[in-house]
Amino acid sequence: MRLATYDRGGARLALVVDDRLVDAAGAGLPGDMLSFLDAGASAIAAAGSVLEKLARDAAALDRASTPLSGATLLAPVPRPRRNVICVGLNYAEHAAESRVTQGLPEYPVYFTKPPSTVIGPLAAIPWHGHVSTRIDWEAELVAMIGIGGRDIPEERALEHVFGYTVGNDVTARDLQARHQQWYKGKGLDGFCPLGPWIVTADELGDPQDVRLQLRVNGETKQNASTDDMIFTVAQLVSNLSMGMTLEPGDLIMTGTPSGVGFARKPPEYLKPGDVVEAEIEGIGVLRNTVAGE
Ligand code: ZN
Repeated sequence: MRLATYDRGGARLALVVDDRLVDAAGAGLPGDMLSFLDAGASAIAAAGSVLEKLARDAAALDRASTPLSGATLLAPVPRPRRNVICVGLNYAEHAAESRVTQGLPEYPVYFTKPPSTVIGPLAAIPWHGHVSTRIDWEAELVAMIGIGGRDIPEERALEHVFGYTVGNDVTARDLQARHQQWYKGKGLDGFCPLGPWIVTADELGDPQDVRLQLRVNGETKQNASTDDMIFTVAQLVSNLSMGMTLEPGDLIMTGTPSGVGFARKPPEYLKPGDVVEAEIEGIGVLRNTVAGE
């Protein structure tokens, strides 16, 4: 199942069926992503039966849906209830190119991005030229929590993941270095593009076996498999939940592979007008332009 959030005089949830959007509220389902998650298994079952009915009746699908091509997609959760949780240095080659640690991290490195960083797949990444000129990219698999919980054992952790989307952990490298702590350099407005939609966990399959790529103006900069993660999605969800309750709608960015701009020789940074595409096999392409000066 694929679920998108789109703008129709406000953020609304839709089921994505091929190249069409079925408005969730119009189909009798909760009208936004967080309400849908809060409703839990009953909402998922109801959405499943809506999809089943529409699959059998092309005319009904036509009546109940609008073309995806004309829709303004927003981030799956346009305004998360709390900070987006991020994992640093979760791919060995990226840890090596970053040269901030000796060897591999023994425990996951966590930081967060405030809710105000989140933008959708059609929004421009703001250009904060007076604050930073070293804006970098980081393509990441993003897990969204469906069922909250605390002290979740690793073997049950994936049951708590509702689905996945694509994220770009946009980073001001000069600020990241200057302030030592990463919150500021990764927390500027618009620095967390997410989308284009959520693919449910059952549809994506094994989260440790998908290819992840990032292109700038069509040129491939990052290309890796999630198989290379140091800490798996299951390990991260379990570890995060130890003594700290995870809630429905929590977003976990699982780290970026090698190929980021600052580690290239010579270093490369984004500039106004650049088009950044993060793509994950089985989910889709998150395409954002860097805004003009
Ligand atoms: Zn990152």
